[in-house]
Amino acid sequence: LRILLIGNGGREHALAWKLAQSPLVESIIAVPGNGGTARVPKVTNDTSVAADNYPGLVELAQKNRVNLVVPGPEAPLVDGVEGFFRDAGIPVFGPSQDAARMEGSKTFSKDFMKKHNIPTAAYENFSDYEQACQYLKTVNHNVVIKATGLAAGKGVIIPQSQEEALQGLKEIMMDKAFGSAGDEVVIEEFLTGDELSILSFCDGTTIKSLPAAQDHKRIGEGDTGLNTGGMGCYAPTKLATPQLIARIEREILQPTIDGMRNDGFPFRGCLFTGLMIAPDGAPKVLEYNVRFGDPETQTVLPLLESDLAKIMYACAGPVPYLEDIAFKISSKFSTTVVVAAPGYPESYPKNIPMQVADAPQDINIFHAGTKLSGDSLLTAGGRVIASTAVGDSLRAAVDKAYGGVKLISFDGMYYRKDIAHRAFRTTEA
Ligand code: ATP
Repeated sequence: LRILLIGNGGREHALAWKLAQSPLVESIIAVPGNGGTARVPKVTNDTSVAADNYPGLVELAQKNRVNLVVPGPEAPLVDGVEGFFRDAGIPVFGPSQDAARMEGSKTFSKDFMKKHNIPTAAYENFSDYEQACQYLKTVNHNVVIKATGLAAGKGVIIPQSQEEALQGLKEIMMDKAFGSAGDEVVIEEFLTGDELSILSFCDGTTIKSLPAAQDHKRIGEGDTGLNTGGMGCYAPTKLATPQLIARIEREILQPTIDGMRNDGFPFRGCLFTGLMIAPDGAPKVLEYNVRFGDPETQTVLPLLESDLAKIMYACAGPVPYLEDIAFKISSKFSTTVVVAAPGYPESYPKNIPMQVADAPQDINIFHAGTKLSGDSLLTAGGRVIASTAVGDSLRAAVDKAYGGVKLISFDGMYYRKDIAHRAFRTTEA
């Protein structure tokens, strides 16, 4: 296979690392890639075409006889990148523009869940600001307000009072803090419980899921401070017993895939389901994403023992056959610790020189916001780099991942010291 990989985050470095291990993979072009993908065997970074110039990407793919396209982030999928390649006859591991609405529009995905009886928080959609205000004044439960469109993980407000709720609503709908993403909002019931994320490979009919992971969204220890793109992750979570996973597959994942196919927009690619598990054990969907998560991907891919390229082609190729593909998951544990630039998630400096020592075999250093300038490695983003390690116990994986952080150095580097703390809350894993 000759693969075109779109994106430049830690997720894409992990995808490139795993894909390059496949004997089926001849070469990978990463557009634009980062300082990490540049060092993966078989990978060439290409910055000659912008990652959102879809006709340009098709041309690049044709020139290089690419036969599998893997878009990493949500933006190209929501923009319909799949259609550009489909028209050119090149398979894409990723959903069509219609299927990508499951992430691109929260009002759409909530209505989809209601239609297919998929458990989720009670909600109302609003495109009229005055009506949304009226509603907020009448509800007597705690609410969460969500801008419907893409807002890079920032379009969700969890207000502590009615006043804050009204203020947040105004910012989204009137002040357009997230642009047209705030033309409509979902106002939903606040749920309590534990969150988990499941990444599933789908070919439109069959799903095969990776171990459930738990992300750490807040910048500060003990889950405090501002929201981020994700500061670390571990898998599998203790919470995800085989019984719970079976229930999630039965009540949520399979009905989602079947509902999408029956509604005329089958899902091919990686479906990310964000779930809240209530104290009584009942799972509800918080959100769908139509692509791999970041940093979940860095955490769970090292637990996949099967050939990723084979799985992706089985989902994306002309005749899907995921059901027939070997899918072996390691019984070990994995942990990722994200290292960020000073100041992140607020403003932060770039171009800080950094050093990364060679990692032993069971530790992976996945680059996100880094770039190569000549032979020197520089920071180029907020979430800069991450250390992922696999171990026989969660404790071993966590300790090794923090050992990996010691291989990284740059001025002002910041990371949370408590990744996986919820797993150690009551008992040792
Ligand atoms: P992401 O960056 O995960 O893609 P997003 O902007 O798409 O985020 P959601 O995942 O819907 O938005 O919400 C972000 C976070 O807000 C969730 O991970 C969860 O912590 C919290 N959240 C969302 N909905 C609810 C809810 N109904 N009850 C409680 N917390 C919620």
